[in-house]
Amino acid sequence: MAAIRSRHTKPEIVVRSIIHRLGFRFRLHVGSLPGKPDVVLNKYCSVVFVHGCFWHRHKGCRRCATPKSNQEYWNAKLAGNVKRDAKHIKDLKKLGWRVLVVWECELKNIPKLEKKLLAFLAL
Ligand SMILES: [Zn+2]
Repeated sequence: MAAIRSRHTKPEIVVRSIIHRLGFRFRLHVGSLPGKPDVVLNKYCSVVFVHGCFWHRHKGCRRCATPKSNQEYWNAKLAGNVKRDAKHIKDLKKLGWRVLVVWECELKNIPKLEKKLLAFLAL
């Protein structure tokens, strides 16, 4: 299974290319910000996270079923991820950033995802 913090994974590249195509310019993985957002749009005070449904527990998504074995381990580990995500988003908002989370499964419908990104970025 892939590491949680893997960089330049495919969903992330897809989301970046959409944002780029929509005409927005950005920086990547800004280490100084909480949670190291995948895309940082300074001009818009906005950050975008691209979250894997499994690792980040996409509510109601069938991709986030917990493995049958070692459930205790997984529940604790995944709950920790969710808690960390929530804290990062809270901290970012406190610093004045607008935060959008894109879920891996949303990449199945690119036109819809484009609309979501545009609605978020086009103030
Ligand atoms: Zn999902």
